[in-house]
Amino acid sequence: MATDNEGLFDAADYVRPALSGFEPYDPAFTPCKINLSANENTHVMPPGFVEQLRCAATSVSLNRYPDPMANELRNELALRHGVSRDMICVGNGGDELLFNLLFAFGGAGRTLVTCPPDFAEYANFATMCDTPVVRIPRDPETFAIDEDALVKAASTAALVFLTSPNNPTGNLLEAEVLSRLLTETKALVLVDEAYVEFAASDASFVSWLAEHPRLIILRTLSKAFGLAGLRVGYVLAHPSVINQLAAIRQIYSVDVVAQAVALAAVQSRKLLKPVVADIVAERDRLANELGEISGIRIWPSEANFVLVRLPDAARVRTRLRDEFSILVRDFSSTPGLEGCLRITVGTPEENNHVIHALRDLSKEWSV
Ligand SMILES: *Cc1c(COP(=O)(O)O)cnc(C)c1O
Repeated sequence: MATDNEGLFDAADYVRPALSGFEPYDPAFTPCKINLSANENTHVMPPGFVEQLRCAATSVSLNRYPDPMANELRNELALRHGVSRDMICVGNGGDELLFNLLFAFGGAGRTLVTCPPDFAEYANFATMCDTPVVRIPRDPETFAIDEDALVKAASTAALVFLTSPNNPTGNLLEAEVLSRLLTETKALVLVDEAYVEFAASDASFVSWLAEHPRLIILRTLSKAFGLAGLRVGYVLAHPSVINQLAAIRQIYSVDVVAQAVALAAVQSRKLLKPVVADIVAERDRLANELGEISGIRIWPSEANFVLVRLPDAARVRTRLRDEFSILVRDFSSTPGLEGCLRITVGTPEENNHVIHALRDLSKEWSV
């Protein structure tokens, strides 16, 4: 507790117990020529798309508060997905919505079930919201979900968070697993589809919403739309789930510029098709070429990144950064991902640099 000696003052002594131990997220990024560490879209966007967004950004008034519910944007998203507007809640990135789901539906005694390795924020936000986490680890070889163990854990849980395609393992959620969760348990089930635009066109579970009121889908404009800096994501769910989320959200978290630019982006979404197609083609090329380097193990991916296992991964990550100016994500200290790096699919040129760099480095570990 607080001491009388102000010289030893530390606000950590005052912090809410659930929040103790969290550190600021300030990943002192080394500036690198090629940043493939955060699954952003690094492609040049079509000129028509950029022009629409520029126009939208410069035509908003900043003296007025935003529309709290972003209704124009919701209308367009409703059209995109063939649902009604009351099934959509927009947020300041998917991250805010993940937090709000736990804020609304979690809490002491209400368990969240996850299947790691997955998105680290699930467990972080759960802890912040006093929500116990039960982890059902994926198969260490295939990253498949342990279906029976998951259904069993979910039968006493409030929430299940699953990711499809999963970050960082790249595989899709199987329909059978989701179906069992929705029929055999009473949990709210979130399917995080942050990367689904990079998967087969029938990969999304949005069409299941009509039949399954406890299904919640998360989408974001940060990945395929190339708008990570804009901070716009949304949830699709039963209107009563949306109502609960809408009731507890920070009312102005999605600002007027973000709403206007996001609306223009969603309206212009057809222009992105060639970009997404190119990323998918590059993903498969990158996977093939990296897979041929001796010592590299690579998993199939439905997203805009690939997961590789290689000798001395942490050191390879540092050498890519320092000798080749390429930044990738090191997962080698994450349980289940020993020796693993995650590489975002970049432009053809960026991918060539990665392939050449890893070929170079592999000469040392293959002798
Ligand atoms: C990137 C990502 C998100 C959302 O990111 P935002 O930028 O906050 O929209 C959500 N889930 C996963 C698994 C992600 O990788």
